[in-house]
Amino acid sequence: MRDLQALQRRDYDLIVIGGGINGAATARDAALRGLSVLLIEKGDFASGTTSWSTRLIHGGLRYLEYFEFHLVRGSLREREILLRTAPHLAKPIQMTIPIYKQGSRSYWEIQAGMILYDLLSYDKSLPNHRMLSARKLRQLFRSLDAEQSCGAAQYYDGQAAYAERLCLEIVLDAQVAGADVLNYATVTALGRVGDRITALTAHDQIADESFTVTLSETAVVVNTSGPWVDQVLGLEQGQGAEAVLGRDRKIGGTKGSHIIVDPFPGAPSAALYIEAKSDGRPYFITPWLGQYLIGTTDLKYDGPLDPLKASNDEVDYLLRETNQVIPTARLTRADVRFTYSGIRPLPYVGEGKKAGSISRDHILYDHGKDGVVNLVSLIGGKLTTHRQVGEEMTNWAFQKWGKTAPPSPTRDRALPGCIWPDDPRRAEAAAHYRTLVPASVLEHLFQMYGARALEVLALVEDAPDLATPIVPGLPDIQAQAVYAIQAEMAHTLLDITRRRTTLAMQANYGHDALPSIVAALQTHCGWTTAQSEIQIAQHQAFMEANCIPDYALDTPAVPSQAVGVVASG
Ligand SMILES: Cc1cc2nc3c(=O)[nH]c(=O)nc-3n(C[C@H](O)[C@H](O)[C@H](O)COP(=O)(O)OP(=O)(O)OC[C@H]3O[C@@H](n4cnc5c(N)ncnc54)[C@H](O)[C@@H]3O)c2cc1C
Repeated sequence: MRDLQALQRRDYDLIVIGGGINGAATARDAALRGLSVLLIEKGDFASGTTSWSTRLIHGGLRYLEYFEFHLVRGSLREREILLRTAPHLAKPIQMTIPIYKQGSRSYWEIQAGMILYDLLSYDKSLPNHRMLSARKLRQLFRSLDAEQSCGAAQYYDGQAAYAERLCLEIVLDAQVAGADVLNYATVTALGRVGDRITALTAHDQIADESFTVTLSETAVVVNTSGPWVDQVLGLEQGQGAEAVLGRDRKIGGTKGSHIIVDPFPGAPSAALYIEAKSDGRPYFITPWLGQYLIGTTDLKYDGPLDPLKASNDEVDYLLRETNQVIPTARLTRADVRFTYSGIRPLPYVGEGKKAGSISRDHILYDHGKDGVVNLVSLIGGKLTTHRQVGEEMTNWAFQKWGKTAPPSPTRDRALPGCIWPDDPRRAEAAAHYRTLVPASVLEHLFQMYGARALEVLALVEDAPDLATPIVPGLPDIQAQAVYAIQAEMAHTLLDITRRRTTLAMQANYGHDALPSIVAALQTHCGWTTAQSEIQIAQHQAFMEANCIPDYALDTPAVPSQAVGVVASG
């Protein structure tokens, strides 16, 4: 249980609102540099935009077109840091860009972009790009509609298949460094006296109780609430979000949706980065944990932030475009296993600018210019550049205090689960747990948890029933659900299926996983039948509101899929 009384007595240097990847990175960087930190998240960690991304750790090849060289260079540097400090969570991924005669960019333009991308990542560990002839492209991607193709470009980027777990490990590391971290606590009011925020009130949804943290003379507040930045600023002004939106809006989000499908006829063995035939927009077909993640759309968006769902039109667009480029795919709505949608927290630019052309660079907006000297908001910020944001936010705080900031250790400090493929602990675990868990499960646990897999396995040693698979055919075991509750601050079934594991995407919107998870939690975590029933209902309601497409809800029940895909990382 969390101790709200103790929280209210502590004297924080820095309070972070929003536990997505950028808030987590800020809390971690600040705590590691000796500050006393509080991180408050209204839902689960990574439950906002962070969990709805394409999961690429990339320089953003496309940003070269808008001459955002510093953004590309910074992102490529961060990609390299992540590959080094979190090799279990960020892995190299090969990308192929088929080039078409009728496409908007010529072979030579793409080659020039590739050379620039390599130059901007001159210190990388990944291979340089290579250009492919049309013949070679057809050889490598036989199912691709390559008739009008004049070749392709191939290069490497990074993929964080478990983006939610990346965020969680950053939060856990912040906690190790001394930060207080709360999920399921909504900031509901910001008290202000003169030019300072002096108090912050939040509602703890777990204890169903409100609490107020009083800020010291020097404390600063960091608003990393992503697309909710304007709403949080509305709290500061004692007004609703609408007042802020009307007056001095900071965020002008765009909506991006993805679909997840099982392997299909002609599915590529490596990721494709494609220009959509209908509107020339770039999108990705990415192998992801034995399935395919296809997206994204990019639509200007002004509607409500919760709930948020891919529209039927968006799903159809992604299916149609994929079928055009891979004619054997013949994907239909019935092939869609999961959909998700998020809002990019981009700077508000007013009307008239194309969604794709709005800068993806981030801004630290110091509200000193609005008369609030101890508040800063993050506008923008990619998954890739979260560590940099954390470092910059902490530097900002030290600058406010007129002090020299100690160097940030986050460029070199490994995340808690960091482990390399040749680490002897893997072989030792394989020998030790041979009789308790199959080798495929062991491999899966190391892919997902890195070195922390050993803690999951220790649960199985104490209670061998926890080696029971959650869903037949998938490598997840009941111990993971118990571990999520006991060691990873999960509170709900949704936390477990969506963010501690990927079962929601692989087991019929998570439904097929729930009976086994609930059984384990009732036996090992004291969950009651009544509590379980409420949680199952909430899980279903969330899926219907956010992830099950509307056309599928029109049919009476979501059909149970035979799940034969084994996650391989
Ligand atoms: C479709 C799509 C694809 C993308 N693909 C990529 C990609 O491949 N690579 C990449 O680098 N970037 C990608 N991005 C961008 C990236 O995902 C986001 O910019 C990044 O995750 C934003 O993280 P954040 O922490 O700033 O915001 P969020 O993750 O949204 O976190 C903000 C948090 O604040 C919390 N919050 C809000 N109000 C309150 C309150 N009152 N009290 C407490 N907490 C509150 C929310 O619950 C939320 O969890 C993509 C974005 C989208 C939408």
